[in-house]
Amino acid sequence: MIGLAFSGLFRASLVRRIMSTIAANLQAVNARIEAACNAAGRDPRGVRLVAVSKTFAPEAIREAARAGQRDFGENYAQEGAEKIHALDDAGLVWHYIGPIQSNKTAVIARDFDWVHTVDRDKIAQRLSDARDAHRPPLQVCIQVNVSGEASKSGVAPDAVAPLARRVAGLPRLALRGLMAIPEPTSDASLTRRRFAELRAVMERLVRDGLALDTLSMGMSADFEAAIAEGATVVRVGTAIFGDRSR
Ligand SMILES: *Cc1c(COP(=O)(O)O)cnc(C)c1O
Repeated sequence: MIGLAFSGLFRASLVRRIMSTIAANLQAVNARIEAACNAAGRDPRGVRLVAVSKTFAPEAIREAARAGQRDFGENYAQEGAEKIHALDDAGLVWHYIGPIQSNKTAVIARDFDWVHTVDRDKIAQRLSDARDAHRPPLQVCIQVNVSGEASKSGVAPDAVAPLARRVAGLPRLALRGLMAIPEPTSDASLTRRRFAELRAVMERLVRDGLALDTLSMGMSADFEAAIAEGATVVRVGTAIFGDRSR
């Protein structure tokens, strides 16, 4: 009995120690967001933090939620759906940020609140068709390939406008803005130029009459630069949850 009680206690304190790292990391990331906003003369309330929880267990997400985090990002449809169901009672907002295979559109449209990675008509149409009429429309960003040849995902900048117009016309989708993942590079000024390019693409769409308010750009390594270039959503995983095993 005593041994059991001890090992239970030990486990609880170990879990608390690991978990409190997530709360501390969140606090540090939020402080960095605030500092980046101050440096850019922006209101920190204009930047939403999506905590990217891919590969991490529901308990890690629950700990982040206890520390006040509401928005979470997942890259794999099935894994995300399982966590969404496991955390159904927590009142969280779920963002799908991975590549979309057409046989996964039903799962994504059923369970997620946002999708950041729409890059072709067929996927947009299928997401709209699959979205339950009783739920709010799926909030959507179009993924733009700002890196040219270096990246396969996303629509080319000069093809965004016609796709955006068609997505905006789909009944169960609400087009909110654009998303990009610049190519990996050690050249921070190149990354920052990519963010500026994405903002310029969005500004053109807004000038042409689309009501967009979301620029989803910036990850653990570069979210300050993204905020300097106008990001309204940053997607941060490693800096909150630690290194991923896959
Ligand atoms: C994994 C991932 C992130 C988070 O990346 P970190 O470097 O861990 O912050 C952000 N956006 C997308 C699309 C991702 O796949």
